[in-house]
Amino acid sequence: MQILYKSTRSRKAGVPSSRAILKGLPDDGGLYVPEEIPKLDVSLERLAEMSYQDMAYEVISRFLTDYTAEELRHCINSAYNNTNFDTPEIAPLRQVDGTYFLELFHGKTIAFKDMALSILPYLMTTIAKKNHITNELVILTATSGDTGKAAMAGFSGVPGIRIIVFYPKDGISPIQERQMVTQKGENTYVIAIRGNFDDAQSGVKKIFGNKLLKKELDQAGFQLSSANSINIGRLVPQIVYYVYAYANLLKKSQIQLGDLINVVVPTGNFGNILAAYYAKQMGIPIGKLICASNENKVLYDFFATGIYDKNRELVLTSSPSMDILLSSNLERLIYKISAENSDKTMILMKALFQSGQYEITPEMKNQLSDFYGNYASEDEVAATISRIYRQDGYVLDTHTAVAAAVYGKYIKMSGDKTKTVIVSTASPYKFARSVLHAIDREKYDFMQDMEQIQALAAVVGGKVPKAIEEIRTALVRHYTVVEVREMEAAVKKILGLIN
Ligand SMILES: *Cc1c(COP(=O)(O)O)cnc(C)c1O
Repeated sequence: MQILYKSTRSRKAGVPSSRAILKGLPDDGGLYVPEEIPKLDVSLERLAEMSYQDMAYEVISRFLTDYTAEELRHCINSAYNNTNFDTPEIAPLRQVDGTYFLELFHGKTIAFKDMALSILPYLMTTIAKKNHITNELVILTATSGDTGKAAMAGFSGVPGIRIIVFYPKDGISPIQERQMVTQKGENTYVIAIRGNFDDAQSGVKKIFGNKLLKKELDQAGFQLSSANSINIGRLVPQIVYYVYAYANLLKKSQIQLGDLINVVVPTGNFGNILAAYYAKQMGIPIGKLICASNENKVLYDFFATGIYDKNRELVLTSSPSMDILLSSNLERLIYKISAENSDKTMILMKALFQSGQYEITPEMKNQLSDFYGNYASEDEVAATISRIYRQDGYVLDTHTAVAAAVYGKYIKMSGDKTKTVIVSTASPYKFARSVLHAIDREKYDFMQDMEQIQALAAVVGGKVPKAIEEIRTALVRHYTVVEVREMEAAVKKILGLIN
């Protein structure tokens, strides 16, 4: 069965997956969505016997239907191997505190973005060759801290591709910033902006929407694409680990065939949890999709009231990768619950653009019963890290702690005993300062960043990950800081269109 991808904002016919991945975004400002979610026509028992790579093939091949089997195998094997991941399981499941933590931080940059960004460059280059694209691909990426580094790790040194990353100057952790500015590779460019993540993301979207610029770039031999989770090539590989989690629980006899599981996802741009929603639509027995927010609780309010309202101050929290007020991927859910009505979706998104808010209809709201939203305060996050460390010796990063804290609220409220998977999105090393602050502020707060890494290794009782070792001595290579309004000029400058 051929799956095509159409825009959430127009009735135009869909395009093949390869085109959607290369383009990143449709011209009308919407997002590409599959015209249909394919059913996973392999039994869960069979999946349970498969490796991560084989399972990835089963899932991805159902969505990216214009890649050949050989091409997909090549992409999967190039991405999910022991050079890029420090564990053969790729996404290990750890049983702690009566639940299961799905560790998605064993890739090169120790955050879950590696799960998709290790394969996306291969998906892009494979198809660029096949489609005889002669323009150089320019990947524009806005990052709340983790995407940028993971994208550069994936695209660094790839011929025919340049990557430009924008990050909010004061909105990421010290380790994240150091990872970013020390990035190697002649084709990588890192730019800090004086603004927050939403500014970076809107700026990038604006550049994509500029038709004049597109022409200019085309004449100069360039073509833009995106590595953000607005690219469908990011979303599809993220479905795999939900299938893997279920199959793994089955294999370990933690659940019986057909049992439901709940998933808890620490959410920012709504990409990761949307992948879980797609996994459920494919037929994986998932019960509740628990959407965990930090103090930027736009999504919690949305699920509670049906009103999405981004008119509020962005709070800078200890989980910076979730400091987001405009969750881009929610548009894909809105499209779905509007009975795939692109006119309706367009109207709501226009309202969001113009007034910063919109309200869905009661019929649409009725279709959100799969979701439960809540949020965790900074104190609750710290208390959760401290509690689970003292009780189980297991150290959560701040984002995962948001999810664990929200899960606590969910069971208190519902009494639901369904087996639950908490998605663990980053290694605690990436947020060492906040994690140690939660465990014992008096002992650790005064330490320098790299001294804290050593202290954390003692707390965790493990080895410092390679990703952190590397930045310890690496040279700073990127210094540029620009205003939000200068983003387009910065891109042109990098591409040699202006001086
Ligand atoms: C990006 C990120 C998130 C949020 O994921 P979304 O797909 O944007 O909802 C959560 N935790 C970490 C560590 C991240 O890097």
